[in-house]
Formats: sequence, C-alpha cells, structure tokens
Amino acid sequence: MLGPVILAASRSDKMRRFVSAAPGTKQVVGRFIAGETVEQVIPVVRETTARGLEVTLDVVGEDITTREQASAARDAYLELIEHLKGLDLGTRAEMSVKLSMFGQALDGGHELALANVRPVVEAAAAIGTTVTLDAEDHTTLDSMFAIHEELRKDFPQTGCVIQAYLFRTEEDARRLAASGSRVRIVKGAYKEPASVAYQDKAEIDKAYVRILKILMEGDGYPMIGSHDPRLIAVTQELARRAGRKLDEYEFQMLYGIRGDEHVRLAAEGHRMRVYTAYGTDWYGYFMRRLAEKPANLLFFVRSMITKN
Ligand SMILES: Cc1cc2nc3c(=O)[nH]c(=O)nc-3n(C[C@H](O)[C@H](O)[C@H](O)COP(=O)(O)OP(=O)(O)OC[C@H]3O[C@@H](n4cnc5c(N)ncnc54)[C@H](O)[C@@H]3O)c2cc1C
Repeated sequence: MLGPVILAASRSDKMRRFVSAAPGTKQVVGRFIAGETVEQVIPVVRETTARGLEVTLDVVGEDITTREQASAARDAYLELIEHLKGLDLGTRAEMSVKLSMFGQALDGGHELALANVRPVVEAAAAIGTTVTLDAEDHTTLDSMFAIHEELRKDFPQTGCVIQAYLFRTEEDARRLAASGSRVRIVKGAYKEPASVAYQDKAEIDKAYVRILKILMEGDGYPMIGSHDPRLIAVTQELARRAGRKLDEYEFQMLYGIRGDEHVRLAAEGHRMRVYTAYGTDWYGYFMRRLAEKPANLLFFVRSMITKN
C-alpha cells in the first residue's frame, strides 16, 4: 500500500524540499548513495572491485529542465570516465545512465539525449568499458530503445534495461535477445498504470521468469538485476538448462542492499555487479529505494524522530 504513495511523493517538489532538509536524511541516504562527488566514489570503486565484485556507476539525477543541466550531466559522466582511466578496470567498472538526465524530456529531447549520451559511450569505449541505458517510466521507453539501437551500430556492447512489470516487455526481450544485446532485466521501480503494467507482485515475478527464459535462451548477454532469492535460484537453473557458462550472464544488485549476497554469489564464481549511485541529486533514486521496502521508510522516519 505504501509503495505507490512514496512513488507519487518521489515526483513532488514539496516533498523533495521536506525530505532533503529533514534531520537524519543524510544518514539514511548514505546507505544507498556511495558519495556526493567523484572523488568520494572512486575509493568505493577500488574497494568493491578489490573484493572480486564489479560495478556499474550511476551519477544520480533525472527529470532535468534545461539544456544546460543536460550538458552538465554529460560532463559529470565524462569526468567520471577520466577518473576511471587510471584504475584500468575495463568492463569491471561500467556506467548506467538515465536518458531523462541527458535531456530526453525537453523540446527535441530524443535527439538531444542521443547527442549527449554518444560522447559518454565513446569515452567509455576508449577506456575499454561500456554503458547501460536505464529504463525509466513507460512513456520514455520507445525513445530509449531507439537510442540504444542507434548507439549499438557503433558500440554493440551498449546495454539497456527492461522491466518485467510492463506488458510490452516480453516482446522487447525477444527482439533484444535475437539481436545479441546486453540486457538488464529488473522488476521495475516506477508507478505505472494498470493499462500498461502488472500491479500484482506474483504476476510481476511470473513475468520476470518468462522474460528470463527468453533472455537465457537467446543470443544476448543477460544481466539479472534483482535481490530476490527465488529469482536468483531460478536464474541459476535456467542458465544451467540453457548451457550458459558462469561468464555468459551476470547478477547485479544495488549498493547498500543485501551486501552478503553480493559476496556469496561472487565467491561461487558468478559475475556480480554492484549498481553504485553517487551525486547530490539523489532524491528520486532514494525515494524509489524507500518504496521498494516499507521497512526502509520506518527506519527513515525513526531516524528523523531521534534527531529531533
Ligand atoms: C542493478 C539494478 C538496476 C536497476 N535498474 C533499474 C532500472 O533501470 N529501471 C527500473 O525501473 N528499476 C531498476 N531497478 C530496480 C528494480 O526495478 C526493483 O525495483 C528493485 O530491484 C527491487 O526488486 P527486487 O527484484 O530486488 O525484488 P523485491 O521483491 O522488491 O525484493 C526482494 C528482496 O530484496 C531486498 N530489497 C529489495 N529492495 C530493497 C530496498 N530498496 N531496500 C532494502 N532491501 C531491499 C529485500 O530483502 C526484499 O525482500 C534496478 C535494480 C537493480 C538491482
């Protein structure tokens, strides 16, 4: 019940101001956000990769309103890539981007987002790594998939994300699997209407398994973005049945969530990538993490009360 309310609040400027100014917020945000600056996140990248894990780095931010902000988002990623250069991690450190942060929702936004994301993908390729396009709300996806296809002409390793809760996704999965793409499959984190998405958790999980099967049996590289123990077990079984080796798919989990599981899966020989978000514009990302687990909200409210 609480999830949809929190997701609605994630789009409210009033709530943004309230939550950002609340005492105790920083401490709770710190569980999910690895730092505010590139200088703070680089030691996290070093430490995570030293433990045998991999990372995908997300400079937080979305729903920007000016072209200047879109350029600044591009520059933030280029600055990150400059810092990664010295670490020589190759694909062990890749990047995740939200096209709304690159201007997708502005006038002429499709072309603008493509123009802003291309230099990031080029710079990533120059240091031996790649970029994955995150999936945002359903109205943005046709544009995201078209940009993904365009980027793959020059950079075939560019990945994208599909969301199990959307009715359209099985078809998207078939197309992407046939084209040999890197694809992250997730349950989906936005507030979507019943006309386009399953609302029931059990239905979403069933769809997730159907899509996973398509990806495992296809020609692409599946990236399983989930903390759900049942889906992790199903993944292992489907990969075995499809005859995939351990390096022919990977698990991905979020920084700050089920850290023991990151280490356990890596110790079993799996590729495990930690989605590591950093930056100052953390509000939307943080609210989606609260919506996924109401206990997080309780913890957050308690920390505000204790600080008062
Ligand atoms: C690497 C990665 C990238 C993602 N990228 C996108 C994207 O591009 N677009 C998109 O819409 N969504 C994205 N998501 C979010 C995703 O859609 C889900 O909202 C999120 O992963 C929770 O679903 P779950 O599969 O972990 O299963 P759930 O059933 O939600 O959770 C399973 C268990 O994981 C733990 N858990 C899950 N979430 C939390 C949390 N917030 N706090 C504490 N514990 C938690 C709990 O123990 C829970 O019981 C991404 C998720 C991951 C892991």
